[in-house]
Amino acid sequence: MRIEIVTIFPEMLRGFFELGVIAQARAEKILDIRLHNLRDFTFDKHRQVDDRPYGGGPGMVLKPEPIFRAIESIKSKLDAAPKVLLMSAQGKLFTQSVAKQLAQEKALIILSGRYEGIDERVLTLVDDELSIGDYVLSGGELPAAVITEAVARLVPGVVGKIESVEHDSFYRDDLLGAPQYTRPPEFRGLTVPEILLTGNHEQIEKWRERAALEKTLKNRPDLLKK
Ligand code: SAM
Repeated sequence: MRIEIVTIFPEMLRGFFELGVIAQARAEKILDIRLHNLRDFTFDKHRQVDDRPYGGGPGMVLKPEPIFRAIESIKSKLDAAPKVLLMSAQGKLFTQSVAKQLAQEKALIILSGRYEGIDERVLTLVDDELSIGDYVLSGGELPAAVITEAVARLVPGVVGKIESVEHDSFYRDDLLGAPQYTRPPEFRGLTVPEILLTGNHEQIEKWRERAALEKTLKNRPDLLKK
């Protein structure tokens, strides 16, 4: 899968994609992640990407021209038609089910906003506006990293064992994952549920189903109501 991220701060994201499963998947050529500096798509001496808002008001707005140029240039170099995603607090909520849909795509272009946001005309190029939650960040770089990582985990081969992904929270029916334990079996008087030490996989699976349900009921009953 190819993921192209447009931002005014590519250096914020570079390190993030050079560690962990994402870096491994890039090395194995399962993922091709490219970072683009929006300023590279300006033509003026000051490489200006923002301007004052029409109608007045505080802050600056990202100008349409460099963004149009960036998206058109990236698209022209892709074999498959990409989904263009705008990071926006006003977007629809990014969830595991949206991640599953995006993981089917061959290419994504992710556009990070900054300042007061972007010129609304850019939306004519965008397939989806996505928000990572009901709060406002200073830029779309963290949302771009969050979405890239959540989608990439679902691309076959990125996470070594597909079962790890299938046991994650939200993968199935909006259920949280079951609690996990590792050695030692007892630590400061805190013990591991005995069933997990028996090696009885059928019983362990049943315990996990129940424990996942209990955890969901305790922490996220709203999911069960769905
Ligand atoms: N004025 C905008 C508004 O009212 O929605 C907020 C702009 S915010 C300071 C700058 C940029 O950060 C946005 O253009 C967007 O790309 C990104 N951003 C902020 N919060 C976000 C969120 N919850 N999800 C996705 N992107 C977000």
